[in-house]
Amino acid sequence: MSRRPQNTKEILMGIQRIWLRFSPQIRKQRWLLTAGCLGLVTEVLARLLVPIPLKLIFDYIIVPGDRSLPFTIPLIPDTNTLVLLTIFTIGIVAVTGLQAAAAYVSSVSMSLASTRIITEIRAQLYTHLQRLSLSFHNQARSGDLITRITNDTGRLKDVMITTAIPLVVNNLTLVGMVGVMFWLNWELTLIALTVFPLFLLTTVRITRRIHGLAKQQRKREGAMAALAAEAMGAIKVVKALSLEGMLEDSFSNQNQQSLQEGVKTQQLSAGLQRTIQILVAVAKALVLWRGVQLVLQQAITPGDLLVFITYLKTAFKPTRQLAKQTTQIAKAIASGERVMDLLDTVPAIRDSRGAMEAPAFRGQVSFHQVSFGYKSDHSILNNLNLEAQPGQKVALVGPSGGGKSTLVSLLLRLYDPDEGQIRIDGHDLREYKLESLRRQITIVLQESILFGVSVRDNIAYGLLGASQKEIEAAARLANAHDFIMALPQGYDTILGERGATLSGGQRQRIAIARAAIRKAPIVILDEPTVGLDNANEQAVTEALDRLIQGCTTFLITHDLRGAVNADQICYLEKGTILESGTHDQLMRLRGHYATLYQLQTALGNSINENIYAWQSTSR
Ligand code: ADP
Repeated sequence: MSRRPQNTKEILMGIQRIWLRFSPQIRKQRWLLTAGCLGLVTEVLARLLVPIPLKLIFDYIIVPGDRSLPFTIPLIPDTNTLVLLTIFTIGIVAVTGLQAAAAYVSSVSMSLASTRIITEIRAQLYTHLQRLSLSFHNQARSGDLITRITNDTGRLKDVMITTAIPLVVNNLTLVGMVGVMFWLNWELTLIALTVFPLFLLTTVRITRRIHGLAKQQRKREGAMAALAAEAMGAIKVVKALSLEGMLEDSFSNQNQQSLQEGVKTQQLSAGLQRTIQILVAVAKALVLWRGVQLVLQQAITPGDLLVFITYLKTAFKPTRQLAKQTTQIAKAIASGERVMDLLDTVPAIRDSRGAMEAPAFRGQVSFHQVSFGYKSDHSILNNLNLEAQPGQKVALVGPSGGGKSTLVSLLLRLYDPDEGQIRIDGHDLREYKLESLRRQITIVLQESILFGVSVRDNIAYGLLGASQKEIEAAARLANAHDFIMALPQGYDTILGERGATLSGGQRQRIAIARAAIRKAPIVILDEPTVGLDNANEQAVTEALDRLIQGCTTFLITHDLRGAVNADQICYLEKGTILESGTHDQLMRLRGHYATLYQLQTALGNSINENIYAWQSTSR
């Protein structure tokens, strides 16, 4: 995980990395960004001009004198005073108007540009996340990934508008002001600048302390929330053990400390404000003390002094924000790095160079000495061989954890084998483009996930762009059409979260319709009838039989009745196929399968797991 950058160099390097990484997205918005920058520069210039009309009023109208000084405008002394006054006062409005217009243009175009950039980055991140392999997702925490898509990209936007823009404007203004001040009078400028180091030092020091305290307080609040949540979650135990008093003490202790930290933060912040106020007053006093003498000596005009004082006030404001903004930018850079880390993670499973579009499969599938483990030191499948001819039904049976689901995950190329090859129609899976491979495999799981959209869309997710006719045909094949029509809005009924408003059997039949609409030549069924009552099971089994018609099918099942009519049954245990053949062949073999089958028929299906457990202990 990215650490927050601490010093200026790290911050600048961070900003540079972010800009380089996202330069394609940034470049697309170059016109908007150019408009924004022009607006910025104009705003800064206008800001520098703000005190000028006032200075002119002072120098040419209120106290006109010898004007052989900087800023002398030749025509002015001959013009009528009232006309001059009118021009200057209009000037005040004009300059402020210019500043406002420039600020508007810059902030609108910058926020538009940055919103577009962020939207694109976010979309890219989402797409990228979906492409990352399952092995990545198995290890990542989904909460963390969601935070990266939402919060972190949002903070990146902060770097671009809310923080970076004022930072640039303020610094430009500062440089501009100091420049103009030097031009007007270097001596007064130096006097004004003497207070600056002191000012910077105080601001940075106090802000750092405030920041530290605020962090501590946030941490404590997190701990308090956790404490409260734990206590509420385990309220029965708390009451039974009479822990209320002890927990109350602990909570109130934390609460009190958080309060003290809050008060301290407020104190520091108020102290900082007042210190700055005094420092500004000192600077003003010094400038006035020397400035008035210079005015009296006619070295500068009263208007010049006015410009000085105004600049001084304006100059301190942005500097005060600097410390705060540095923290914000540092945070945003950390966020940017988190986003970049994710974007730079290369999907482990992707199209190899020269991968071809898979032709329509006949459906011949073979596993050649396949070995695989989720972790490099722990093998799940060992040297596995399996061959299925087009249209064959292969049943995978055996105890839980034997590797059946892993085997079909490899066929879907959710993972690549560590050793050996998996081939479809004679070609290694890695020779095909992923999308074209997966498009020709369809899957029905034990607990099918339905999305919170209409029934129609749930089915159409199997084949994007499917027509109503195709959707209905798939639903009929899946024994689902009738009950769908009986739903309040038929095919347009929106399903609750995870399809909660339907029964298990109905959900399963919609999932079968979704699988059927793909018309894929290879079908994977992962215990699709587990947990269904008899009536539903029959409807689902019927639908499945229609679904797998003519397809190469891999059926994972604990219920051996489903395996009996398979062309090939593989008994898998600890990642190895111990027995394989037809039902009759395996029964004649009198091995694991035969024993299991006899036990199941004798005892019924409900105690499958116990049978496996019993089998492994009795061996
Ligand atoms: P089955 O389908 O036969 O019950 P699985 O293929 O699901 O077996 O699991 C085989 C082994 O692989 C089990 O020991 C299981 O704990 C392990 N396993 C399954 N999925 C993962 C995963 N995503 N990460 C690590 N280990 C896994």
